[in-house]
Amino acid sequence: MNVFFDVQGTLLTMEEVPRPHAREAFLMLKEAGHDLYLWSSGGAGYAATAADLLGVANLVEGYFDKRREPGVPVDFAVDDDASVVEAHGGYRVTPFDGDPHDEELLRVAEAVEASKG
Ligand SMILES: [Mg+2]
Repeated sequence: MNVFFDVQGTLLTMEEVPRPHAREAFLMLKEAGHDLYLWSSGGAGYAATAADLLGVANLVEGYFDKRREPGVPVDFAVDDDASVVEAHGGYRVTPFDGDPHDEELLRVAEAVEASKG
């Protein structure tokens, strides 16, 4: 599946603090055979910068501007915005506020597997 991650509130705080366990979660999803994308209303370039900050750039297939239709189908959206998850299907994460003990991203791989039903 093509798994799309939102950036702000999902992978980073507004102040760009990285959410814990991003690389671990991305590795789990890659090993399960999924293709990973980052998209942001801040644009594709901002999403790419976020991937570098999170140390996941080598695990990501592409970056998209969230304000436009991406060039590949969105099979599963990981987002702190419920409307995005409702539109595409996926997993709504709690908005990340910088908690260093946050483990929300570790639940994503499980949610993707469960969605295959
Ligand atoms: Mg967001």
